Amino acid sequence: MADLTLDEARKEVAALRDKLDEWANAYYTKDTPEVEDNVYDKNYNRLVQLEQEFPQLVSQDSITQKVGGQIDNQFTKVTHEIPMLSMGDVFSKEELQEFDDRVRKQIGHEVAYNVELKIDGLSIALEYTDGKLTRASTRGNGQVGEDVTPNAKFISDIPQTLPEKLTTEVRGECYMGKEPFAKLNAERDEKGESVFANPRNAAAGSLRQLDASITKHRHLSTFIYTWVNPPQEITSQHQAIEKMTQLGFHTNQTGRRIAKMSEIFAFIDEYTAKRNSLDYGIDGIVLKVDDLNLQQDLGNTVKVPRWEIAYKFPPEEQQTVVYEIKWTVGRTGVVTPTAIMDPVQLAGTTVSHAVLHNADLLRQKDVRIGDTVMLHKAGDIIPEISEVVLAKRPKDAQPYPIPTSCPSCGEKLIHLKDEVALRCVNPSCPAQIEEGITHFASRPAMNIDGLGPKIVRQLIKNDLVHNVADLYHLQAADLEKLDHFKDKAISNLLNAINNSKSNSVELLLTGLGIDHVGAKAARLIAQKFKNMAKIMSADVQEVASIATIGMTIAESLTTYFAQSEVVELVNELKTSGVNMDYLGKSPEAVAADIPDNDFKGKTVVLTGTLAHYTRSQFTQKLQSLGAKVTGSVSGKTDYVIYGQDAGSKFTKAQKLGVQLLTEEEAIAKVK
Ligand code: NAD
Repeated sequence: MADLTLDEARKEVAALRDKLDEWANAYYTKDTPEVEDNVYDKNYNRLVQLEQEFPQLVSQDSITQKVGGQIDNQFTKVTHEIPMLSMGDVFSKEELQEFDDRVRKQIGHEVAYNVELKIDGLSIALEYTDGKLTRASTRGNGQVGEDVTPNAKFISDIPQTLPEKLTTEVRGECYMGKEPFAKLNAERDEKGESVFANPRNAAAGSLRQLDASITKHRHLSTFIYTWVNPPQEITSQHQAIEKMTQLGFHTNQTGRRIAKMSEIFAFIDEYTAKRNSLDYGIDGIVLKVDDLNLQQDLGNTVKVPRWEIAYKFPPEEQQTVVYEIKWTVGRTGVVTPTAIMDPVQLAGTTVSHAVLHNADLLRQKDVRIGDTVMLHKAGDIIPEISEVVLAKRPKDAQPYPIPTSCPSCGEKLIHLKDEVALRCVNPSCPAQIEEGITHFASRPAMNIDGLGPKIVRQLIKNDLVHNVADLYHLQAADLEKLDHFKDKAISNLLNAINNSKSNSVELLLTGLGIDHVGAKAARLIAQKFKNMAKIMSADVQEVASIATIGMTIAESLTTYFAQSEVVELVNELKTSGVNMDYLGKSPEAVAADIPDNDFKGKTVVLTGTLAHYTRSQFTQKLQSLGAKVTGSVSGKTDYVIYGQDAGSKFTKAQKLGVQLLTEEEAIAKVK
């Protein structure tokens, strides 16, 4: 790092922020993570390290300065009077010891911690008025969350009424147990719907439902662990948990008050060993300074409390035995080997398949039938074989033969120039058609609910579809030919297909499955060209001129649209009524979704030291209300909000006649 120039660091920081923002959006807003948590964490920590080394690169909108997550505008917004923060994390016992050293140094004496399991779900806030549940909300961006009250009414362990007429707020984790998770995924798989990557995403996707009746059938649970405004007699976290339990909240009973680090380490070891046998997912251990007054003294940063920390478990590894290697043909004709193994629990999911990517990798790893392998979840959610345990290799195990013909259509397999991948280049290969249509219908593409691989396979087998355009000609009578496909399923699928016609064009572009053109590239291309006709006639240079789109994508896109059968396919889709325009939301439309308030559309400047919030907290609050917060006062400024010791900006505002607000006046307007 020391040898990085400022310019190099700036580039790396920008790239990391882009990547992390995209992953955070997929994780928090869409509930479909693109990478494993440890990959996210590694990149996040690299960004923190760079920002520490080059403080001039720190910016308010960096993910390190805000609570991850955005609000889905379809939900009513809930302002958290007390922000719902994130949590600092460490990955080793040494770092945990350093945290304890810092805390003790700041406090000046020994401290006891309430040590709790870190539940793998999403935060939920519950507000009670006179003992009645009046509002439930998600964390959102920490300042503003989503109103999920109707959904919370269907979570059976959330008390609707308390035994005491309290007006209060508690917070905790909403999660899906391992069993309901496995059941839900099995059902979705059966119906050909996409499965959730892990219980955390299943919980988030089930709570954040506009139709609360869906939540009802998802068997969500909660563990409540925070009392936002406890009565005076409650002076510690462990007392708060005890009292909340008496009030009827579902609390986790494994928490312990511990003062000695050696005992905390033993607690970590205990639950590292036990975590797989729990019936809910945990991803670490949380240490909270037990004394609530000391918590107050230690306070918070913009993003995390200083009195608590999460120790995150290292990514898991498991051993299992390979009993088959299966070759599958992808939508672009690439033939991929997959190891089929004895199922094992790995990082919260049951794993029985690991993709080996290509024949070279299979040769390199030399995975053989009967081999015991080490399995982990590396740079992806998809499990990977790290290595073969040679000591356990059966004596008669043979190197696996690489196929020479397509396992689906029998055509000879080839290597295209410079490619390690083996390919089937037969355009009528049934496996490629099936993969292509499944991809077209998948969530990041046209998002046709209910059209999973099993249904697609049957549609092809029954000669009902040969390409994606055929989907739009399907009739109820056609679908009656499918196995176990009844009235409701038929009308749901036809509706889903029909609804997909109105998708914005980037989803169609993603769905066409053009090599190298994923969802993000498709969005950028659609944003630039605005409609399919312009995308199809764009030349390589025009496409490559889009920031972050390189020549590989540009060439792949233009080569794809140069094919006459592709032009024909797009025309057919258009004739069926599939939308060909970019419908992305303009900034005006996004702003229009924010409810009216005093700051919406206003330009605001903050100056002086604020007493109730940090600058960045208040900035976030104002931005969430639709304000533009700038650094200097001009004739265009609508408000200057000032705290203690305000200087030149205050005087300039007076001179220009810009409306001045004290911090308190501004807070009153925010509420
Ligand atoms: P976090 O999930 O690491 O920790 C904070 C949260 O822990 C709290 O908001 C709370 O909901 C929860 N929690 C669970 N048990 C708790 C307990 N006993 N006491 C208090 N809180 C408890 O932090 P975050 O900001 O929500 O998310 C950051 C993490 O999310 C990252 O470290 C990463 O692992 C993951 N993430 C992953 C991706 C991805 O693409 N895979 C993207 C973004 C974030």
